Amino acid sequence: MADTFTALILEQHNNQTSAEVRSVPRDALPAGDVLVRVAYSGLNYKDGLAIRGKNKVVRSYPMVPGIDFVGTVEESASPAYAPGDAVILTGWGVGERHWGGMAQYARVKSEWLVPLPDGLTPRDAMAIGTAGFTAMLSLLALEERGLAPDGREVLVTGASGGVGSLAVALLAALGYSVVASTGRADAHDYLRALGAKEIIDRTPLTAESGPMGSARWAGAIDTVGGATLPGVIRTLAPNASVAACGNAGGFDLPTSVLPFILRGVNLLGINSLDTPLERRKVAWGRLARELPRDTLQRTAHVVPLREAIPLAEQILRSQVRGHTVIDVNA
Ligand code: NDP
Repeated sequence: MADTFTALILEQHNNQTSAEVRSVPRDALPAGDVLVRVAYSGLNYKDGLAIRGKNKVVRSYPMVPGIDFVGTVEESASPAYAPGDAVILTGWGVGERHWGGMAQYARVKSEWLVPLPDGLTPRDAMAIGTAGFTAMLSLLALEERGLAPDGREVLVTGASGGVGSLAVALLAALGYSVVASTGRADAHDYLRALGAKEIIDRTPLTAESGPMGSARWAGAIDTVGGATLPGVIRTLAPNASVAACGNAGGFDLPTSVLPFILRGVNLLGINSLDTPLERRKVAWGRLARELPRDTLQRTAHVVPLREAIPLAEQILRSQVRGHTVIDVNA
């Protein structure tokens, strides 16, 4: 490794966050037992918040954002990894409390890493990224509650976003009958191409019309939260579950106990950040085997590192379709 490397650096002065791509000395890297030469990072909603200095996502400055990355081990003091191993990292506070993936190098703890599964290229791995990983964790949770592809409808909210797009594609590939909820009229063809059977507008889900609605969904993956999640809960079929993984529409959850006690529905929380290693391996193995690669051609677009700065504002405004992959060496 050279004495310096390129990174996107966030700094904060007078409560104003600045973001700049620049050269950084190698010895500025944080502590960790594995040094990874990063190939790609991802741009997630949380990265948008971090780069724009919102919601106190970043805990200390200067910070390199990037809550996920894929790359090759360059140095390792851990017996688990050797130079040349291809690895993925998602979560663990990387890009929030510990320098993240939007740089040519990252130094991290070996226990945060997952080996790149067979059959996945590094580019495909970050085209999936935290977004696809979260979609798979949501599916695992729903399957553990009995969801199976039996022809009944499964809802995905925030469907044209990163997590939503990959959830639609994954469920469709596994034979589920997917209904995609979106606020974007121009995303309908895109969502159909990913395998959605029906597209619904997101507004009716948020309408206040009593604690219970007609029971429709055999399961749901909700990336929006806010006023949308109550709309999902009130329209779940008896004993069905919703995997709640996002808050793009807000934090509050103004709902009623009635769907829980009269229909036995389940609210399943999804936290991709601290998922144990064994479950990570299961999720990545299934993504490598079950997510069709042509999906990733549709959902992912690759941009150079400097583009992460303007795209951060766009992802917070719901102007980014699918999932953005950051080529940290371009
Ligand atoms: P994106 O911005 O790519 O997607 C979010 C989507 O939500 C948008 O595309 C839009 O979809 C919809 N949306 C946005 N704002 C609103 C609103 N005000 N009301 C209703 N719908 C809205 O983000 P990601 O896919 O990266 O992340 C989605 C959510 O999941 C975020 O809250 C993120 O923090 C969370 N997340 C959680 C993880 C976990 O571990 N639990 C891991 C990864 C992400 P459309 O235009 O189609 O309606």
